[in-house]
Amino acid sequence: MEDAVTEAALNDAPHAAPLLVAIDGPAGSGKSSVSRAAAEQLGFGILDTGAAYRSLAWAAVATAADLDDSAAVVAILDSWTYAITLRGEQRVTVDIGGETHDVTAAIREHAVSGLVSRVSKHPEVRERLNAMFREIVAESGLDGVVIEGRDITTVVAPDAPVRILMTASAEVRAQRRAGELAGLTHEQVLADIEARDAKDAQVVDFFTPAPGVTLVDTSNLNFEQSVQAVVDIVRVAQGVAEESE
Ligand code: C5P
Repeated sequence: MEDAVTEAALNDAPHAAPLLVAIDGPAGSGKSSVSRAAAEQLGFGILDTGAAYRSLAWAAVATAADLDDSAAVVAILDSWTYAITLRGEQRVTVDIGGETHDVTAAIREHAVSGLVSRVSKHPEVRERLNAMFREIVAESGLDGVVIEGRDITTVVAPDAPVRILMTASAEVRAQRRAGELAGLTHEQVLADIEARDAKDAQVVDFFTPAPGVTLVDTSNLNFEQSVQAVVDIVRVAQGVAEESE
């Protein structure tokens, strides 16, 4: 009985806030895949914030909402339930109109990528999603979470103990993305990436590191070296935190 009481008390005890690793960067910088592998090595969760913007664009199309109308997009946020897994294989689900949709694959489609900037440009949408991201992390119960996007180091988690801006030249980014997008030429992929970055950059600056943000340029790094660069930065920060304890 006593054990049960102790266990209940432990379960109720607030879990220490997870260690946050904030990573921003443009499309094709390696941000998503590198963040995921680094999180795995560190035993942390990973929150891909782009998946929420993508799901919102998907939901707007599915419900025939006007993507350029901020109020219409916010109305979706009022009525949907969004869920994403932070550990293991990423699954993204959207509950809308009483139905659950697994959108994991659909939100990666080229057609969706081309529409996301139209929902992510609305300040109210960003504020609402940012609050959701902070809640997901706080309630994760994990020791650490890598959270990646465009404005994590500056807006979502400006106080994160580790903040990284991952970049790569536009050419290198286009090469990496071309491998993922069958049927498109290198020029088409480069044009797509540059157009999306230009639209996104009107809303948030993810090309210049804010003060205190570490720049990791992956143009000349392979995948393993990029992951190692992130893991090393986190380990140094963990060491510094332990020393000051
Ligand atoms: O990272 P990913 O390419 O999946 O992001 C898809 C889109 O979501 C971006 O092009 C951008 O419009 C939006 N986004 C954003 N802020 C974030 C993450 C993504 O505006 N933190």
